[in-house]
Formats: sequence, structure tokens, C-alpha cells
Amino acid sequence: MSGRHVVAVDESTHLADDAGAGGQVDVEVDAAVRAAAGTGVGQSSRADRAAWLRALAAGLELHRDELVALAREETHLSEARLRGEVVRTATQLRFFADVIDEGSYLEATLDAPDASLVPPRPDLRRMLRPIGPVAVFAASNFPFAFSVLGNDTASALAAGCPVVVKAHPGHPRLSRRVVELAREALQGAGAPSDALGLVEGVESGVALVGHPLVSAVGFTGSTGGGRALFDLASARPAPIPFYGELGSLNPVVVTEAAAATDVDGIAAGLAGSFTRDGGQYCTKPGLVFVPEGTGFEDALCDALGTVGAQRLLTDGIGAAFAAGADRLVGLPDAELVWRGAVDPSTGEASDAPATVVAASARAVADDPHAWLQECFGPLTVLARYRDRTELDAAVAALDGSLAASIHHAPGEDISELVAALAPKAGRLVFNGWPTGVAIAWAQHHGGGWPATTASVHTSVGATAVRRFLVPVAYQDAPASVLPAELADGNPLGIPRRVDGTLVSGHQS
Ligand code: NAP
Repeated sequence: MSGRHVVAVDESTHLADDAGAGGQVDVEVDAAVRAAAGTGVGQSSRADRAAWLRALAAGLELHRDELVALAREETHLSEARLRGEVVRTATQLRFFADVIDEGSYLEATLDAPDASLVPPRPDLRRMLRPIGPVAVFAASNFPFAFSVLGNDTASALAAGCPVVVKAHPGHPRLSRRVVELAREALQGAGAPSDALGLVEGVESGVALVGHPLVSAVGFTGSTGGGRALFDLASARPAPIPFYGELGSLNPVVVTEAAAATDVDGIAAGLAGSFTRDGGQYCTKPGLVFVPEGTGFEDALCDALGTVGAQRLLTDGIGAAFAAGADRLVGLPDAELVWRGAVDPSTGEASDAPATVVAASARAVADDPHAWLQECFGPLTVLARYRDRTELDAAVAALDGSLAASIHHAPGEDISELVAALAPKAGRLVFNGWPTGVAIAWAQHHGGGWPATTASVHTSVGATAVRRFLVPVAYQDAPASVLPAELADGNPLGIPRRVDGTLVSGHQS
């Protein structure tokens, strides 16, 4: 990082008194954050915010053609993929509206006073409240679903937090247009339009993380960038939570019995999964343990023969992919199994060729630092194991991932494998592929370092809102100051825990 980045954090703590000191960038960031903080979103009702989220979803869908055309120009992703992504983004917004309507996310909990206990228990009522203004760093690889109106923004707004987005430089015009439409939609739904702001440029991102009124950060991007910003968030005079989704290998284990049962089907599934949209997914399977001598490599090469090429999102990501692939191919134990130099559909040379590198599982276990690094793009590493001891040693060396997958035969005992992989990943996939993350109440899209900077949280699914909420307990509070969610008689009809027992909204 440049010295400027470090300096900006200290300066930003004085923005209120000395707005000129940090330059134009800090002035713009300060204006955006103060406008967001002044909106009163934290005091809005759940019903109002649910309506705002639904209005944002409708606004996106209404302008889908225009937005997809812009995204096509800026990202090189296919029209079909982008059209689907707009639908996903609208679905996410509506999903979070449903989550806050339902109300259990508030963890409303009531304990009646009991003087006979030791120590005596006062009247205690606890719930979650919005943390405050949130900074969101948009991702490059999902120009809609993890960008201006993506998961982080949707879950923060749902929680009751205004948002200032740091646009990703890979799709600046799209980001500006989406924020313009979103602000119109918010206004149309009776919301303060400043509930959503946008800043651009690397310096703005640094100033945003350091701004004293920003209370939390959501980030999707590289391990290096995420770590640098996480460190800035932690080094502030008042540190704030930083929810970074960074690099993930998403290991896959193919058991011997599975390979014996369907080697062609599994190889074809892998070919589709690791090359999908140029392999530019945080859930791409980047490391696959295969039993030696089962013909898996041949089956995979056959399947890759029909895979087309994809230009990567930005020149920087293309260059990082080329460098990462060359590094892996150059490792002492590496064998280049496949590099698709030519797109089979066009006959043209490929900028980012689908690439398969193989090594022994022993080599991976012996030098995890060299082998266990994400290479963002259409590349996967096959780690060949001869027996269970070799597989176990390599699995033990794995860092945290968003997902881990097991391909197994029907009826096969995989309990030990599950026990070994469960601490390594936020989602376990059986006889399937990690790409494709459903939006659901039970979803978990998180994992240990370096997959995320906050292993207890998720960025997809209902509990994503939890990142932007903090608990408060009211002790012996007069009824007049209690939020309606904690009032006697449960006037809002939300699920609550009362004296230790879960009570649905309809029961109380
Ligand atoms: P990136 O370089 O980390 O950038 C993401 C965002 O963070 C951008 O807005 C960037 O701002 C900002 N940023 C990065 N480093 C910063 C720093 N030191 N100080 C201040 N701001 C900083 O990620 P990317 O451009 O999306 O892609 C690069 C790599 O990220 C990929 O090759 C891949 O490894 C990884 N990636 C991971 C995921 C995932 O879901 N896990 C998704 C996409 C990408 P500026 O660009 O304006 O500098």
C-alpha cells in the first residue's frame, strides 16, 4: 500500500473539523457518509424498509435491458449470465424484505423479573438494532448481485443501515446508473434517497473505511486488498467490524469408489464448474483430490475439448490469472494436464485458456504455501492420492474455504471425510459442485481465513443481516422507551424467546 492510504485513515478522524485537509476525495466521502448517517434509516420501521427493498427490486427489473447492455460493455460476461444475475439480485432484495417482515432475525428475547433467583433477575429484554452506516466494496465478478445493489447492500438496508458503496472500477458506468435508479426507486417508495450513496476510486475506499461515522464494512475481492482494508478498519481509533469475502480454493474430494462408479460424469461436471463464466467465481473448485490411476485426467481432457473461452473481467484480473497459472505450472512437482489454447467454437486464441495442473497429494501436503493459493480464473489443480493416508495429510493442510465437496458412491461410508472437511469450509456439497449459491434461509456463504475475515458470518442467506446488527438489552426499562418488538403482548407479532421458550408470533 502507498503511504497515502495509511495517512488517510488518521486524517479521516478529523474530517468534521478540517474537511479540506484530506483533499477533494475526503470531502466527497465525508459528504456521502454524513448524508447517509443523517437519513434516519435506523429509526425506520421494518415494514417501511421491506417496501423499499421491494421497490429497489422492481426498479432493477424495469431497467433490465438497459443495465444488461451496460454491463455487457464493461464486464465481457454473457448476456444470458447478466440477465440471470439481475433476476438473482431482485430476488435477493425481495428475500431480505421477507426476512425482516418475519422478524426472528431480531432475536427478541424477554426474561420476566424473578427476585427468588441468585442473583436476582431483573426485567430483561434484548434485541438486535442496526449498527449504523455501512461501507460496501462492490465485487468485480458480480456486477449486479455483489455490487451496488448486491447482497451486502440489501442485507445492510434490511438491517436498518444506510449504505455508501465504493464502486468497483471494473464497471463504473453501470455502478453510477444503478445508484441513480436506486435512489429514484427509494424516493418513489418514500425512503430517503441518501440511504444509498456511491464513491469511486481507491483513495475514496480508504477514506470510507477510516470515516468515523462508518460502523461496518462489507467487502468482496482479493485476499491482498481485503487484508489491507481489514487492517485499516482494525487500526482506526475506534475499530469496526470488517466482513471480507476473499480468496477460496473450494476443495473437492473424489473418492475411489466414486471414480470407479462414474469417472466421466464427475470429470464433465468439474469441467463445467471450474470454467463457468471464465472461472471467475469465489466458489470455483480450485483443488480436486482424485485417486491415482482411475483415468480421471483423460476424462477431464475429453470434457474440456468442447469448452469455449471467456475474456476475463478486467485486464488486471487477466494478468493476475496468467501470472498465477504460470507460477503453478512452474512448481517443481507440477504437470500441465490441459491448456485450451484455442476456443473450439471460434478457432481463436484464448486470452485466458482453461488450465488444469496436476501434482501428487504428497507435494500439496509438503508445500501447502505453494499449492494452496487461489488462482482466480479458469484453472483447477488435480492432487492425485494413492491411498487414504496421503489424502488425509493433504486435507489436514487446507486453509478455510467457502465450500468443500465430496463425490462419493451410493452407500459409501464418508463420515471420516466429512469430519475432516467440516472445519475447513462453510458449506459441504455432496455429489455436486460448489458454483451456484442458492438464496435461502439455511444458506451459509462464509468460511475461515482466507475465505473470509469473519468466519462466524455469511454474506448470502437470511443471516447475512446479522453482520450489520448489534445487541442491546433493556433492564427494567419503562414501557414508554421499549421498541414495539419487545413490548408486552407482542403487538407486532414476531417470533420471540420468552423465559427461555421460543414463541411464534401467532402464539403470543
Ligand atoms: P481487488 O483488487 O481486491 O479490489 C476490490 C476492491 O477493493 C476495489 O474496489 C479496489 O479498489 C479495492 N481495493 C483493493 N485493494 C485496496 C487497497 N489496498 N486499498 C484500498 N482499496 C483497495 O479485487 P478485484 O479487482 O475484484 O479482483 C482481483 C482479485 O480479487 C481476483 O483476481 C481474485 O483473486 C479476487 N476476487 C475474489 C472474489 C471473491 O468472491 N472471493 C471476487 C472477485 C475477485 P480499486 O480497484 O479502485 O483500487
